[in-house]
Amino acid sequence: MKIAGKVTIDDLPRICPLLSRKTNPRYGGDYVRAVAVGEVWFGKGHPVVIAGPCAVESYEQTMELAGIVKASGGDMLRGGAFKPRTSPHEFQGLGLEGLKILRAASDKTGLPVVTEVIDVRLVDVVAEYADMIQVGSRSMQNYPLLTEVGRAGKPVLLKRGMAASLCEWLGAAEYIAKEGNLEIVLCERGIKGPTFAEYSRYCLDLNVIPAVREQTFLPIIVDPSHATGVTSMVEMASRGAFEFGCDGLIIEIANDRVDASRPKCDADQAIDPPALRRIIHFARSREERLAEKATVAGWA
Ligand code: PEP
Ligand code: MN
Repeated sequence: MKIAGKVTIDDLPRICPLLSRKTNPRYGGDYVRAVAVGEVWFGKGHPVVIAGPCAVESYEQTMELAGIVKASGGDMLRGGAFKPRTSPHEFQGLGLEGLKILRAASDKTGLPVVTEVIDVRLVDVVAEYADMIQVGSRSMQNYPLLTEVGRAGKPVLLKRGMAASLCEWLGAAEYIAKEGNLEIVLCERGIKGPTFAEYSRYCLDLNVIPAVREQTFLPIIVDPSHATGVTSMVEMASRGAFEFGCDGLIIEIANDRVDASRPKCDADQAIDPPALRRIIHFARSREERLAEKATVAGWA
């Protein structure tokens, strides 16, 4: 029986000829085509750690958290100015004001900033303020949005749809690539599975990291915050992600001092500054160990 629309990994060269390894033999083996955001490189052996608040809530909160990311050795700042919320009655983000705050925090710390665009009409303004544009899980299959983001001339962080197969995810990336933009970083952020919401927010699919490596040359990072939804799981998920060979992490943080009455958004998955420092320390020492190993083996 033939089923309409059913695709498998064998169909990837047809679905995404611009991004599939098979159709781009110059990116053979496990070669990762590095993506630059300012001076930060994804896929060059240095794991990129992006951190910041779930949502930009105020100038003071964002400035303070950006300072913490910088002082902890993080590479980039995150923060939502336009938030895709389950309820329309919940905090939706500060919008343009949030973008301006992010830009100021980025300029002050020198950390490039990534922020989400949820509306095709806002791509230009987000591209004006951000160094990297995030397409969120809920928007992964918004094809007109992907096309517009592909034309914006900025690197893109493409999160995996929460129920998306690898083929659907890479197909979404191909929409961006089709506009001439190969500066795409993939982000695994947890999928809906049988244990969904029983003990964690989503199921962190680390298996997808080696699968992505096999199928495409795009770098891939992991979001341990949305994948678990539980503060105490974020460090373990981060370490696991590195063991599976990810190119970096994007993590939500909070600080009692600035989020006095807790963050408005995703408070139960935010980690505190000491936990961020531990994760970055783990990432950096692992990077050094791998570099040493490569030298001993004569690879570097
Ligand atoms: C986010 O990173 O702010 C976010 C909403 O994540 P996701 O799209 O993965 O749910
Ligand atoms: Mn969040």
